[in-house]
Amino acid sequence: MTAKKYSAAKMKKFRRIIEAKMVEITGDVNSIKTRMNHTGKGNAGLAQDSVYSTDMAGAGSDSYEREKSFQLLDRESNYFKHLESALERIENGEFGVCSLCGILIPEERMIEVPNATKCVPCKDKDNLNL
Ligand SMILES: [Zn+2]
Repeated sequence: MTAKKYSAAKMKKFRRIIEAKMVEITGDVNSIKTRMNHTGKGNAGLAQDSVYSTDMAGAGSDSYEREKSFQLLDRESNYFKHLESALERIENGEFGVCSLCGILIPEERMIEVPNATKCVPCKDKDNLNL
């Protein structure tokens, strides 16, 4: 029995969607990195001006901002890796096929979540097991 899969034309469409998302993420990552560099420089100047109370508060919120930026970078690069493996699944024809039950995952879901490897019912079951 041959596994169900999306047509070559559909695969091409998914590939375009994924590649567009990857470009978007690369842009996001670059702007986060730029912002982090700017924040560092900006606060060095600010710390010199504010000798008293704002100094501590400023330093605290700066490291909080940096922490948040790192988390964001982390999440974006993880997502990027997921999209890369989605492209691999397009190559080997596994894209859009649920890894648990083998049904073809609906097109709308694959457009919205191109890195999905499970259909919604299987994902829900999986979440209950966690
Ligand atoms: Zn499934």
